Amino acid sequence: MSEQPKTFTGQYLVVVQCHLVKQRCSGYFCEKAFFERSGLFSRYAAGPDPRIIYLTCGGCSGRAVHRKLTNLLRQSRRREQLGKKQFVVHLSSCITNDNFHGPPCPHIDYLKNLVSRLKLELVEGTTINPKAEERRREGLYEPRPGMYDDEFVEETAD
Ligand code: SF4
Repeated sequence: MSEQPKTFTGQYLVVVQCHLVKQRCSGYFCEKAFFERSGLFSRYAAGPDPRIIYLTCGGCSGRAVHRKLTNLLRQSRRREQLGKKQFVVHLSSCITNDNFHGPPCPHIDYLKNLVSRLKLELVEGTTINPKAEERRREGLYEPRPGMYDDEFVEETAD
C-alpha cells in the first residue's frame, strides 16, 4: 500500500534576492540568518519550521518577480493545495537596505507593488549584518527601515 503524501500546513517563505547582487553573492548570509532564525527571520523562532525558497528578481526592474511568484502559487496549489495565506515574501536585505553591496534597490516600490497585487504578506529584509549596523550608526550607510523603532533609547537631560 502506498503512503499518503504529507500535507504541508505551515508557512512557506519566499526570499527574493537582487539579481545583480547574486552575480557575486552566494546568498550565504540570508541562509545563515534563516538557519539561526536571526534578523528578520527571528519571527519564526518559536513556531514550527517553515519551508523556504530563494528566487532572484530576474534583473531590473524586477518584473519577473510577478511571474515567478505566480508560478510558485499555481504549482503549489495544484500539487499540494497550498493557499496564499501560507506564503510570506521576504525582500532580501540587499534589496531593502543600504549596505556593502550598494544602495537599496531603486525599484523597491515596484517590487512591493508586485507582491501586494498577489495579496501576499511581505517582510522587508532578511539578515541584519552587525558590521553594516555599525556603519549605519556611524552615518556611513542610511539607517535600515525601522532601525530605531525597535530600540530602547534612554532619555538624557539636554
Ligand atoms: S530590480 Fe532591484 S533587486 Fe532587481 S536587479 Fe535591479 S536593483 Fe537588484
